[in-house]
This record gives sequence, C-alpha cells and structure tokens, in this order.
Amino acid sequence: MKTQEYIELEDQYGAHNYHPLDVVITKAKGPWVTDVEGKKYLDCLSAYSAVNQGHCHPRIVKAMIDQAKQVALTSRAFRNDQLPLLYKKLHDLLGYDMAIPMNSGAEAVETALKVARKWGYEVKGIPKFEAEIITAAGNFHGRTITIVTFSTEEFYREAFGPFTPGFKNVAYGDLKELEAAITPNTCAIMLEPIQGENGVVLPPVGYLQGVADLCKKNNVLFIADEIQTGLCRTGKWLACQHENVRPDMVCLGKALSGGMYPVSAVLADKEILGLLRPGEHGSTFGGSPIASAVALAALEVLDEEHLAERATELGEYFMDKLRQIKTKKVKEIRGKGMLIGVELYPEAGGARKYCEALQALGILCKETHENVIRFAPPLVVEKKTLDWAVRRIAKVLK
Ligand SMILES: *Cc1c(COP(=O)(O)O)cnc(C)c1O
Repeated sequence: MKTQEYIELEDQYGAHNYHPLDVVITKAKGPWVTDVEGKKYLDCLSAYSAVNQGHCHPRIVKAMIDQAKQVALTSRAFRNDQLPLLYKKLHDLLGYDMAIPMNSGAEAVETALKVARKWGYEVKGIPKFEAEIITAAGNFHGRTITIVTFSTEEFYREAFGPFTPGFKNVAYGDLKELEAAITPNTCAIMLEPIQGENGVVLPPVGYLQGVADLCKKNNVLFIADEIQTGLCRTGKWLACQHENVRPDMVCLGKALSGGMYPVSAVLADKEILGLLRPGEHGSTFGGSPIASAVALAALEVLDEEHLAERATELGEYFMDKLRQIKTKKVKEIRGKGMLIGVELYPEAGGARKYCEALQALGILCKETHENVIRFAPPLVVEKKTLDWAVRRIAKVLK
C-alpha cells in the first residue's frame, strides 16, 4: 500500500486526536526511520524522548523477545522474577528507596498525586480531603481528567469538565508566587524541570533549588515530572540534578522502555511510597515481566553506553551549530543536553510549515506550540549525522 492509502484508512476509521505529519513509518533503526515508500529520515523527535536509546536497540529488542517467550504477564496477584531486578536497578541508578511501576506517563503522574495526598493526610496531618497540590502554568503532565484540570492550555480542558478539586497553578519560574500559594494544606508541588511540551521552556537558574528549599521549609513534597527530561535526555539521569536537587518523588516514563513498551514508574523514599497499602493502587500490566525486562535492558543501555555524557556532548555541539545558522527567522535557541527548542519569530509564519519542509529533506521533527521546533534526536546519533541535519535545517530557515 502507498502512503496515501494508509492515511485514508487512518482518517476514516481512527479518531482524529492527532495532527501527524503525512509520513507513514514502517521500520526504524538507531536515529533513523524509514517510510512505506522506502524514504529514510532522521528522527529528531524520538517519540517525545521515548527512544533516547535509539529505535529498536538490539539489546532491548532481545530482552523483549526473550521475555515474551518466557512469560509476558502474571498480574501483580503473583510475583515475577523480573520486577525485583528492575526495582534494584532503579534504586542503584537513581538512589531512591522504592519504586512503583505503571504503564503510561499519565498514570505515573496520577500515582504520584495519590501518594502525595495520602502523605498529606497521614504524615503531614492535613484535614481529610483538604489537601492542595500546586502546579505550574504551561505544564504538561498528561491527558486524564485530573491532569487536564491543572493544564493552562484551554483547548486541553475546554470540552472535558467538571474537573478535580484540590489543585492550583502558579507562574513557572516564579518563587515568590509559589511561596505565596503554599498553605498549611499544601501537600505537594509538581513541576517539570524543563517544560518540554510548552516549547522547551527552561526556568531561571536556581529555581529548582529554590523550589526544593521552599518545600523543605514548608513540609511540602517536591514531585518532579521527569517523564520527558529524565533518563539522560538533558545530560543527566534527571534534569533536577543540574541544580543538585533531589526531588521527593520522581515520575519516569518514555525512555524507561526505550520505546519498546509502555513503562512508567514513580520513585520515592520509604517514608512516602511506603505509605501505600495493598489494594490502594495498582495496574494489571504495571510491573509485568515483559515491562520489567524491557525497562531493565533500557536502563542498562543508558548506563553502559554513557548516554547522559553523550547527550551533553552532542547537545553542546548541535546547539552551537544551530546558532551558527544565519537567519532572521529565529528568535531564540535554547535547551539542555539534547532537548533543544528553536523558537521562531511569529512573522516566520508558524513552526509547522518548517517541519513539513524538513520532512521533505529527510528530517522528522514536530512543532510544539505555534512557533517552536523541538530537536531531540536519539542520543545514539553521530556528530556527522547532526552536521548533515544542520545543513538541511539551515536551508529551511533561510
Ligand atoms: C509525555 C509526558 C507525559 C505523559 O506521558 P504519557 O505516556 O503520554 O501518558 C507526562 N509528563 C510529561 C512531562 C511528558 O512529557
């Protein structure tokens, strides 16, 4: 079948909740994907940073196939011999006492919110059902009804109320406003260390440290949503580590499976995650043998291939080359490691058409908001491939 036939089928029978580029991918390897016409592209989105390890990493593929032949799903009604190994690996790499496995990023976020509320009632002593959680304007934490409750993107909420009580927003990057929003009933603050979906928005230097200090001072939990920024993308295991901040809870997803399978998790110490009792939370697929084996391999690849260091090196190289492009269309180039946003002036006519032009030249990327193109290739990409990409990006931006 041809590209157009796939697109017609999809448009006819699928919900239209995405506006994808018209490229139909049939296979992928490392940083490259190939469409059904046989055309090859450099993937500069990495499935929103789920394939930091590169597409179809042989070691993760093998872990998945081997485990699929062994046992895929037990449910958590029984134990399996993979999940404990994943727990231990998460502990050793990230230094938290405990983890809880889920599937999607949104589920990890929901899990963190539930645990934070429970901590608020049982440890902090907040009166029953009065717990408040503070989030930041411009956030993206997923798509459930509770999560869109605190989205500031009106379009994400417009048709979906009534919403969940107990949340309030403050401006991202503003410590004064955050401090003023904290009350005795505040159990947690949840933030992305860099707002990826909001257009790769970095907070002012010192902000995360300031948030951590305010949390400590007010007995409030700091939840970091590292689903996109975590697992080496920004040059550290967690983006919060750039400011030596250790959040009380961390949400992981995306690259936790290297894109092979939906795997997410929340990490925290025992005084927090240890509060959950049997039956209070769970998931049929969460922590399955196959998810655990895949996640274990995905973490080993990040570790053994030194992908955090690689993200730092490649990110500096790539950002430097992007900055050398002579163009009047670019307002700002910003980012950390290999999470890079190129913001265009509004007069440039929106990022979408540049993404389409790049597609024609063999580069896949996606606009975030109107005017930002995000560049986040898999961390296994070669420098010479980035050179190749920059020549094309320069052509499109001129
Ligand atoms: C992608 C993302 C999520 C949601 O993950 P899903 O797997 O799509 O549910 C949550 N938070 C951040 C920061 C994300 O980038």
